[in-house]
Amino acid sequence: MTNNSSHPNVPILDLTQQHQNLDADLKEIFAELMKDNAYILGEELNEFEKAFAEFCGTEHCIGVSSGTEALRLALYAWGVGKGDEVITVPFTFAATVEAIVHTGATPVFVDIEPDTYTMNPEQVENRINERTEALLPVHLYGQPTNMDRIRSLATEHDLLLLEDACQAHGATWKDQRVGALGDLGCFSFYPGKNMGALGDAGAITTAVDTLADRIRSLRNHGQKNEKYRHFTPGFNSRMDNIQAAFLHEKLPELEDWNQKRNQHASRYDDQLEAVDQITTPDVDERATHVYHQYAIQTPERDRLQQFLSNRNIQTGIHYPRPLHLQPAFDHLSYEKGDFPVSERVGDRVLTLPCFPEMTQKQQDHVIQSITQYFDST
Ligand SMILES: *Cc1c(COP(=O)(O)O)cnc(C)c1O
Repeated sequence: MTNNSSHPNVPILDLTQQHQNLDADLKEIFAELMKDNAYILGEELNEFEKAFAEFCGTEHCIGVSSGTEALRLALYAWGVGKGDEVITVPFTFAATVEAIVHTGATPVFVDIEPDTYTMNPEQVENRINERTEALLPVHLYGQPTNMDRIRSLATEHDLLLLEDACQAHGATWKDQRVGALGDLGCFSFYPGKNMGALGDAGAITTAVDTLADRIRSLRNHGQKNEKYRHFTPGFNSRMDNIQAAFLHEKLPELEDWNQKRNQHASRYDDQLEAVDQITTPDVDERATHVYHQYAIQTPERDRLQQFLSNRNIQTGIHYPRPLHLQPAFDHLSYEKGDFPVSERVGDRVLTLPCFPEMTQKQQDHVIQSITQYFDST
């Protein structure tokens, strides 16, 4: 038996170091905003929105309360509702599909590509009909979807092209950042995302003025510039001013963090490619990946995960059960076998620790443990 305490601890994500580095600045922000009582729709929110729109290379950013809410408001702003269909993938976090369902519309699934884990553009056209209102690709794990074909289909059929960029802050497709690739881009600043708030937060990006205005109003009870004049039944979906200020403080670090994730990913690629029973993630040459998750595939997934856990290495499964097989979406009447790639990947995928502050020693321990596992089987 191995002695657990002899192994370094490798969590799947550790925000301690990141927040220690920013400790004084974050506390100062907190103290300032407390002093000013600047909690809702303050100047800090405006400033963060400007900075994040610029970061994405687009015109507008609207801060909202979460990534899930961003998706819901985006669909709502386009007028998606009962009787409409939205084409998306079953291999994503549940929020993507919850947002569709909560507008009253019906999610229509297409499968993912086996090597990049993103929407298979070849399957989209067949699913478009007169009820289709929107295409909703997910830039899963931090890699942009192949947008070329999807974008031309959206234009041809006059559909909303909505990006779920909740895992892909800063990633690019043909040198253009996600959030600027479609009509609307949705981001999550959940603490564990590539850039996270100290709580829940999200944003929508767009270059379309009318959509931006509508979303700004929707997130604030349907009001525009005048208080207590409501143009539409809206929502309370604002981003907290303090979260905006924290995010603005973090934004200048984001590219560096993404670069570090990329360095860890290339080390994994180099060291694990030779292992027979592992498939390392593929990156399309037209894309840059930001590795929100570094996900390998292996037929040994469950046993390997247990082996790593015994050696103090935390891993994850994103996601074990595709959404077409989840009880929550039974009413969509899909069956096992409908999306074979998503199902197969769900059985085989394993997320390894890959966060910016991970040390070389920690990563060596992960790599050596995986190699040892396969040497001994
Ligand atoms: C995190 C995430 C969301 C939801 O974001 P929240 O801020 O947690 O509501 C939506 N889609 C994907 C792909 C995500 O990873």
